[in-house]
Amino acid sequence: MSANFTALAYLVSAILFVLALRGLSSPDSSRRGNIMGMAGMAIAIIVTILRPDVLSYEWIIGGIVVGGAIGAVIAQRIAMTAMPQLVAAFHSLVGLAAVLVAAAAFYNPDAYGILGANGELTVLSRVEMSIGIVVGAITFSGSIIAFTKLQGLVSGNPVIFPGQHFVNLLIGLAIVALIIWFCLDLDPTIFWAMTILAFVIGFLIIIPIGGADMPVVVSMLNSYSGWAAAGIGFTLENTALIIVGALVGSSGAILSYIMCKAMNRSFFSVILGGFGGDTAAAGPDKGDRPYKAGSADDAAFIMKNAGKVIIVPGYGLAVAQAQHALREMVDALKEEGVEVVYAIHPVAGRMPGHMNVLLAEAQVPYDEVFELEEINSDFSGADVALVVGANDVTNPAARDDPSSPIYGMPILDVDKARTVLFVKRSMSSGYAGIDNDLFYKDNTMMLLADAKKMVEDIIKAL
Ligand code: NDP
Repeated sequence: MSANFTALAYLVSAILFVLALRGLSSPDSSRRGNIMGMAGMAIAIIVTILRPDVLSYEWIIGGIVVGGAIGAVIAQRIAMTAMPQLVAAFHSLVGLAAVLVAAAAFYNPDAYGILGANGELTVLSRVEMSIGIVVGAITFSGSIIAFTKLQGLVSGNPVIFPGQHFVNLLIGLAIVALIIWFCLDLDPTIFWAMTILAFVIGFLIIIPIGGADMPVVVSMLNSYSGWAAAGIGFTLENTALIIVGALVGSSGAILSYIMCKAMNRSFFSVILGGFGGDTAAAGPDKGDRPYKAGSADDAAFIMKNAGKVIIVPGYGLAVAQAQHALREMVDALKEEGVEVVYAIHPVAGRMPGHMNVLLAEAQVPYDEVFELEEINSDFSGADVALVVGANDVTNPAARDDPSSPIYGMPILDVDKARTVLFVKRSMSSGYAGIDNDLFYKDNTMMLLADAKKMVEDIIKAL
């Protein structure tokens, strides 16, 4: 296969990747976006393995079969709620791959065609290689920590010790010094010292970050994994890898920014860590404040007699897998002549777009689903706000209480509806670990049960 043809095929796959990102920006085009991404990746892989410098196929085919089989099994089995930790685990593999490819290129540069005229690695290759290794190693160890925190294998609480930022700064400076030294002297000891320090700093950067900020971290590590791939793309002189790496790197960075903005957190305060941990530990004393509890019959009666109901889905809907039942309930309400729409907060659930995916799974029409800015002013005209497994995204403290840790985060103004129905299992707090005053308001009725069970009971009552 000629170099020109390869370059052209890489260009086609790069265009498909851009179109994939474009498609993924809206729920109704996301399927098409996924297909474009898969086609682009298939072209890139096929063209790469057909290059004349690939001498044998046993290992490549073995890798594709084993890796593909593992990936297929995981994709079938994974629960939507476990997606953030799965993504973190996958990023760790991208980081490790970047380190391994760089090590292979370091020990056998001839095989990669990166030797200079003097028979040594060029300075440019050394710089690219070091950046690929360092970013790859940080991505690897950081993603492992993110995975263990999200999976609950270790506590989600921030791990903070005195002088932490100073230690991180020293290690960071040592890594920069080692990169410069490596460019001057190709000693394997420097290569491995740089790699090990990068593993250590990845670990240290992520341990102080609390559970509540973990999804932002996953998105940030996603960005790092892209830059690691781009760095290795330069080493291997592979344009497809450079382009894909840059797309992943920049889209991950933009996503992290969007998530920070939606949570009203600055990117640096996330990176510096210390916010949000295990919800049980972080919640203030709720005391025995009175609240109004209701039943499925009450909820059915109130909603049946309403003119307009706005449904706010949250993380609990995903845990309970209640989306199909919810859709059925909405169909029943519509038959009664009630107008029903859905309101989605940008950080509801545990990953961006989590609620859109759930509702799309239950075939909820897109034109019934509204984003925060589109629908927030409608709550005051709604008879009922039905909150299903959401909590933080409705907490008025974010709007009214400057001392609250989530103060400033935009919320869905459900408290402005005539009646608020809250479906959740207990009076406990949400992910940010803070109590929600809304539970105790006069116009709020708590429907305490698993979301799926409660919605099914409401359907029966309807
Ligand atoms: P929350 O985590 O605030 O609340 C979810 C509620 O669901 C809990 O209070 C829980 O109460 C309830 N719940 C859990 N399981 C069930 C069940 N089986 N049936 C019924 N209820 C259930 O979720 P929100 O979606 O409101 O907010 C998301 C939070 O995650 C925000 O704090 C946001 O900042 C954070 N976050 C989200 C990101 C994203 O990208 N989406 C990114 C970063 C952070 P109970 O235990 O009583 O049932």
